[in-house]
Amino acid sequence: MQAPAAPGTYALVLILDRPRRIAVGHLGTFDFPAGRYVYVGSALGPGGLAARVARHLRREKRLYWHVDYLLRYARVAEVWIRPGLGRRECAWAHATTALPDATIAVPRFGASDCRCAGHLVCCTAKAVWQEAERCFEASV
Ligand SMILES: [Zn+2]
Repeated sequence: MQAPAAPGTYALVLILDRPRRIAVGHLGTFDFPAGRYVYVGSALGPGGLAARVARHLRREKRLYWHVDYLLRYARVAEVWIRPGLGRRECAWAHATTALPDATIAVPRFGASDCRCAGHLVCCTAKAVWQEAERCFEASV
């Protein structure tokens, strides 16, 4: 999938194949259960969604964002994008957190600049994915 070089909001669906203890920069070290995760963020700067998504998918990089630490072990299964100047990441994080079986994976993960409980949600139920997409549609 090719993301446009436009600003927007994105969600990464991540799969961690086995449990991992991961040091997440200054946030601390946490035990991540194996499973599916949704990470939401926005790319409103130069290069937009294309640059940000490409960076997330690149293996070699300086570890900067919290999700960079998780991405050393997890694989990206899906990338959802929504071009637009609106900063929707917090709305998406709230919507994802409210889904059945969803839990905040690590408090404050990816949420250094906002008041959210976290921008990384651990989800287990398969049905969650259709539901999440409806939530994102509704948040526009
Ligand atoms: Zn937030």
